[in-house]
Amino acid sequence: MSDSHNNTPTANVLIIHTGGTLGMASSDRGWVPKSGHLEFLLRNNTLFNGTGGVSPTTPTTSMGKRIDYTIIENEPLLDSSNVTPEHWRVLATQIVDNYDDYDGFVVLHGTDTMAYTASALSFMLKDLTKPVIFTGSQIPLARMRSDATNNLLGALTIAAHYPIPEVGIFFFNRLLRGNRTQKLDASGLRAFRSGNLPSLVTVGVEYTVHWPTILPMPAATEPILRNKFSPDVAVIRLVPGISTTNLHNAMLAPIRGVILETFGSGNAPDNQAAFTQVLKTAVERGVVIVNCTQCHRGRVNSDYAAGTALEALGIITAGDMTLEATYSKLSLLLGEGLSAEEIRIEMIRNIAGELTPEPQALRPPTLMKI
Ligand code: ASP
Repeated sequence: MSDSHNNTPTANVLIIHTGGTLGMASSDRGWVPKSGHLEFLLRNNTLFNGTGGVSPTTPTTSMGKRIDYTIIENEPLLDSSNVTPEHWRVLATQIVDNYDDYDGFVVLHGTDTMAYTASALSFMLKDLTKPVIFTGSQIPLARMRSDATNNLLGALTIAAHYPIPEVGIFFFNRLLRGNRTQKLDASGLRAFRSGNLPSLVTVGVEYTVHWPTILPMPAATEPILRNKFSPDVAVIRLVPGISTTNLHNAMLAPIRGVILETFGSGNAPDNQAAFTQVLKTAVERGVVIVNCTQCHRGRVNSDYAAGTALEALGIITAGDMTLEATYSKLSLLLGEGLSAEEIRIEMIRNIAGELTPEPQALRPPTLMKI
């Protein structure tokens, strides 16, 4: 599209503001979400409103475009600790409903659960062809020294210029795949890491898009919305000497899916009959158990007997998926009513770039018998 005033090409981006630190205002109780505050700040900032006009547009970027953007402010604005799958549904629906009118989407979201929402949306928006870029900040935009300006300008620029068919998180000069990302720092400005996949875009003097890492463009032109989630998923983190009674109780109905956060490359005690029996009983009752490592880098594999014992029980490997991706994927598959066997097939299948299929050479020739 070309700008009617000066022939500068323009791109259209929809910003969906869900809350989080970036748009917060100070109050006597500390930083709080405040309606209208973000739009006010952006309109009065020449970096985000180059002409100072009523319809906000950025100055011309280094790639020669101006970015026209519209802000939808969700009600109420949330600290992301309050975000639920119901908010994931609202957000995905807003993107689908506005899909044809924009070149890309920016989602402003609190950092605390951003990786969960971005992971969920990567599965919900099947056949996505446009960029959906999450960002936020550790310091509010209203503060003099803030990471918000850089994060938001970067997210807007990527959404406007690059046809990246992915849900990403832009933070501290890098675009990471949303379903590969975790928040690992509560106070540093480089808050997110993607332990098992390199950055999709890096920003220095120039924007460098790492196209070979980016997912291929789907043939379809419209995304298909998947939006049924089951709340009956428990996340259980193994600790040395974990009580088998507590483990058993945590997997009782209505729980239908369990993510077992295991040690290292997917290991758990293999010398305690009661522990093994509790897991075996749960699998026999139809509980879908997924083995996800507590580590932030590397994968669940079959290197150790303590890991293969879980596989022999019928526990599904999460491979190199993050907890956030594993949780949203399992909740979605259970919510869609798939059988345990169908869920097993889908969990180890790469749906949205969330996992690297296990190299065949590392797999044991046959399952262990117990
Ligand atoms: N507690 C905030 C949130 O997640 C933190 C942030 O935005 O960075 O909403």
